[in-house]
Amino acid sequence: MRIYLNGKLVDKDKAVISVFDHGLLYGDGVFEGIRSYNSLVFRLKEHIDRLYRSAEAIELKIPMTKADMIKAVLETLKANGLKDAYIRLVVTRGSGDLGLDPRKCKVPTVFIITDKISLYPKEFYQNGLAIITAKTRRNLVTALNPKIKSLNYLNNILAKIDAIKAGMEEAIMLTYNDYVAECTGDNIFIISGGRLITPPADVGALEGITRDAVIGLARMMGIGFEEKMIKIEDIYAASEVFLTGTAAEIIPVTMIDKRRINDGKPGEVTKRLMEEFKKITKVNGVKYEL
Ligand code: PMP
Repeated sequence: MRIYLNGKLVDKDKAVISVFDHGLLYGDGVFEGIRSYNSLVFRLKEHIDRLYRSAEAIELKIPMTKADMIKAVLETLKANGLKDAYIRLVVTRGSGDLGLDPRKCKVPTVFIITDKISLYPKEFYQNGLAIITAKTRRNLVTALNPKIKSLNYLNNILAKIDAIKAGMEEAIMLTYNDYVAECTGDNIFIISGGRLITPPADVGALEGITRDAVIGLARMMGIGFEEKMIKIEDIYAASEVFLTGTAAEIIPVTMIDKRRINDGKPGEVTKRLMEEFKKITKVNGVKYEL
């Protein structure tokens, strides 16, 4: 496996970074998770834009242009001969000393890993996922805004541990004041009164690229859509619930906190959106030749 590291493609064993890297010491950095389908990178520009937005939010200057970053992603995919891949793009503050001071980190570290995508089992897509509400609350927007896709994912990991302890794969994270924010690695949508609803990212959620694609699809399909603050009770009472994310794509949720959603089967709107989403991943994207 070849890894892109600071401008070079190196073997996996040689892809090492300093123990003084603030990405490691403090989670001081940003990242992206991107996917390619049959040699087409889905929404690459949007992912790169979000990476640079996240970096800007933490006052981290990425030492290369967006165009060069895109080139680096495509080169890494080619070097690994991957048609269908999960791409992890990471930019850290770089190597510094043991203090917090980001000024000590002179050169950001940039690396790109491209790997085979590991998927949720098919049954989850056919029968729906059972999830819980996490005990762990989402970070305060005013403390560490979840819109920033930073390396500091402990908030999400703690909620993921809540899910794992309950024997589940995902968990809904509420804000400090009981609004639904998102899941540990996915955005959440409901269908209620025939309309598609998702919480505004401003409550404390990542502005998901898949979320955005689904909103676009709903508009195209004539499904009414609104961004609205919702509580967990609205989700329990919804006619359909699904999650979106780069890795998960669109996945139906049929059980939450041991309560069955509607008839306990993936909903019709969800299934239509899943079909349409599959179609756009086949045609939309930045092409690369192996
Ligand atoms: N929320 C969180 C916390 C995430 O980490 C992710 C990405 N895995 C998402 C939502 C979904 O975002 P995207 O559709 O851009 O992958």
